[in-house]
Amino acid sequence: MPNKHFCQGPDCHERTTQDRFLKSRGVIRGRYALWTIDNSSEYAPRAKFFCSTGCESRWLDVHMENIEQARPIEFIRHRRESGGYAKVTEEHYGRNYNTIKRVDNRTEIE
Ligand SMILES: [Zn+2]
Repeated sequence: MPNKHFCQGPDCHERTTQDRFLKSRGVIRGRYALWTIDNSSEYAPRAKFFCSTGCESRWLDVHMENIEQARPIEFIRHRRESGGYAKVTEEHYGRNYNTIKRVDNRTEIE
C-alpha cells in the first residue's frame, strides 16, 4: 500500500473513470491522494489529501457548513467503493465507445 492518504473527496468513489473501475468486482473505488504523506513541498500541501482539484472543491462544497458550525468532519481512512458497475460498449455516430455505467437497475437514480 502506498504511503498515501485516501482521497478525501466526498464522491471520489462514485466517479466513473477507468482508473477507479475494478472490472473483476464491478466496483468504483476511491483514489489515493496525489502526493505521499511525507512530501515536504509547500506548494500545495492539500495534494496530500486529495487526488484532484475536483475532489478538493467537492469537499469544500459538502463540508464548509460543518466548518462554520464547528462540527467534526470524518477523515477517510479506508478505501471506499460503490458497486454495481460494468464496462459498456455504446455506439455513437457509427463508432464504438467504452463507458463505465451503473448496471444495477435496482439502485438506479437518474
Ligand atoms: Zn478524489
